[in-house]
Amino acid sequence: MNPLAVGNSQSERTLRLSWPDGSESLLSHAELRRQCPCSQCRAFSLRGLTPLVDDRVRLIELNPQGYGVQLVFSDGHQRGIYPWEYLAKLGSSPLRILAET
Ligand SMILES: [Zn+2]
Repeated sequence: MNPLAVGNSQSERTLRLSWPDGSESLLSHAELRRQCPCSQCRAFSLRGLTPLVDDRVRLIELNPQGYGVQLVFSDGHQRGIYPWEYLAKLGSSPLRILAET
């Protein structure tokens, strides 16, 4: 399932995805960074560690890859390619934490 629209808000530090079924996912940049699916970050979480992520981290660039999107963060991390399915799951899980305004 590919989103119909993707909106990245720098002021709210959230990524908004609109899905064909009418639902929307709203994900905070810091949460996206913590849930990075790259091999490096997955190795961390497999060992029970959470990558230390500053809440002020920003999502600065999105590079669509067909099945998903590569996210580039302001802390320099850009290894993660987030499949759309993965983003849809993140957006509907209780893990979703919105950035404080
Ligand atoms: Zn990563």
